[in-house]
Amino acid sequence: MFSLNAAYDFEPSRGKLSLSHERIELYRECEKRNIGITVMKPYGGGQLLNAKTSPFRRNMTISQCIQYALDRPAVLSCLPGVRSRADLEDVLKYYSASGEERYYSFIGSLPHRDIQGTCIYCNHCQPCPSGIDIGSVNKYMDLAKVGDELAKNHYMKLSKNANDCIECGACEKNCPFHVEIRSRMREAKNYFEVKITQNTEDDFNE
Ligand code: SF4
Ligand code: SF4
Repeated sequence: MFSLNAAYDFEPSRGKLSLSHERIELYRECEKRNIGITVMKPYGGGQLLNAKTSPFRRNMTISQCIQYALDRPAVLSCLPGVRSRADLEDVLKYYSASGEERYYSFIGSLPHRDIQGTCIYCNHCQPCPSGIDIGSVNKYMDLAKVGDELAKNHYMKLSKNANDCIECGACEKNCPFHVEIRSRMREAKNYFEVKITQNTEDDFNE
């Protein structure tokens, strides 16, 4: 099983977004070895459905997300999470969606500047002298903010996290998207501290 977020598949190239070579290799290698991929979280934890949280700065529809996932080489199936019958009905609309409604080609023609300042978790900013997996810290914070209940636990399991940032700024020179990483690390530190305090208080009150 493989969590696929369309945003992870792209990187800036000559002013546009193009498919990441690493991801192309991954898909090809799976196909070559007859490994089938089952895609988890085809909406990127909900981020891709909302222009405010999507790295593409525009919303994708459920049908576009599913079609994108199913079109990747070696992908055999796709498992969107559903919280209710209404969510399930939204997923099933994929089967009646027209080709046009599933069409997602806008991704390839997005100008590079559209995602400036937005982390796509590629980790090009490495190495971090404190050993922080910067992409994962940013990813778990973004996912937690859109309501992914598991993201906080994943963050807590990181061997190094935003608390370890010494604000040296080395990473920012390497980020192709000009993300203000020091500021993001401060934000993650405060965000997860508040979350953890809230959960502790909730546990205490139960
Ligand atoms: S901060 Fe920049 S380089 Fe680092 S993971 Fe995010 S987008 Fe990639
Ligand atoms: S600013 Fe923080 S996250 Fe970036 S390289 Fe330095 S310690 Fe690592």
